[in-house]
Amino acid sequence: MSLFLRRIAKAAPIAFSNAFRGESKSNFNCFRVPVGAIAAITGGISYYYYFSSTNLVHLEAINEENSPKVALNPDKWIEFKLHETANVSHNTKLFRFTFDPSAKLGLDIASCVITRAPIGQDDEGKPKYVIRPYTPISDPDAKGYFDLLIKLYPEGIMSQYFAKLKRGDVVEVKGPIEKLRYTPNMKKHIGMIAGGSGITPMLQLIEAVLKNPDDSSQVSLLYANVSPDDILLKQKIDTLAASHPNFKVFYTVDNPSNNWRGGEGFVSKDMVLKGLPRPGDDTLILVCGPPGMMKHVSGDKAKDRSQGELSGILKDLGYTEEMVYKF
Ligand SMILES: Cc1cc2nc3c(=O)[nH]c(=O)nc-3n(C[C@H](O)[C@H](O)[C@H](O)COP(=O)(O)OP(=O)(O)OC[C@H]3O[C@@H](n4cnc5c(N)ncnc54)[C@H](O)[C@@H]3O)c2cc1C
Repeated sequence: MSLFLRRIAKAAPIAFSNAFRGESKSNFNCFRVPVGAIAAITGGISYYYYFSSTNLVHLEAINEENSPKVALNPDKWIEFKLHETANVSHNTKLFRFTFDPSAKLGLDIASCVITRAPIGQDDEGKPKYVIRPYTPISDPDAKGYFDLLIKLYPEGIMSQYFAKLKRGDVVEVKGPIEKLRYTPNMKKHIGMIAGGSGITPMLQLIEAVLKNPDDSSQVSLLYANVSPDDILLKQKIDTLAASHPNFKVFYTVDNPSNNWRGGEGFVSKDMVLKGLPRPGDDTLILVCGPPGMMKHVSGDKAKDRSQGELSGILKDLGYTEEMVYKF
């Protein structure tokens, strides 16, 4: 396992990050990337915003043929090779897939991909597949690889398929599927409520905001889990919070350990009031987690996977449907 994957996977429970305080505890700045690129494809021409060393924003039009190569194709299943895996918790693993090292994955924030795996044949002998969406958590600007963080359910068809993969095996992937188009500074305050593996779309967005020195959005994450050991990538999240004053995190768990210093129990109104931005035109609240949490916090999505009605804690506290996005 590479040093990078070992580092990212290590979920050592370091000191609770003084949630919601938001001051920088150290000058550790390795996650801040001076050169960022956020692409918006408009009618055959790509506009790239890039940040010079003086942090000035430039707008540059480039021809399609000069565009960086992308690995994903929204209309075609592409095979990606498993390079390595790392255990992140007792039931969750990080999977790194590789591709052409001169290409990017081709993912805008916030998007997911779909994966498919063969599960036998239909009556006519044609292959049958199971298809599930996953949210890459690696930097979309990274060349040659992407990472998936996957919770392995004992009875889960796709997650057990992933669990059995070996280095060198391939998985078919299609995408990207855009969930929410994020543009820098689109909202002053971004609140996030995540449960378990529902952290993945939040991580995508957190890293996009924090790596862009011209994005001044304030991001507050409320992350709920069953126990402290279930918190995924805690060290990485804590490091981001400690090195970026515009990012705060608060953890809550159902079953706290003796030395636990975070919140206890389900996400509550009090936690939202203390830790997340108040309702307002410049506020966006993102929610992602298991159905029980969604129901309690915001109401689940509709059967057709549209946003559905807003209910639960967020509705009670005065947030409106325009202010809330359910992944
Ligand atoms: C847009 C989107 C992005 C997603 N991104 C990720 C991601 O980055 N990482 C990730 O791990 N998952 C992600 N998921 C969930 C993922 O797509 C699968 O639903 C999940 O991996 C279970 O699939 P499965 O085939 O293994 O389980 P299934 O065969 O569908 O389910 C079998 C059994 O597994 C258990 N199970 C399955 N899902 C849940 C659940 N949510 N809560 C409790 N028990 C459950 C139940 O016992 C169920 O009966 C995402 C889902 C969506 C909609």
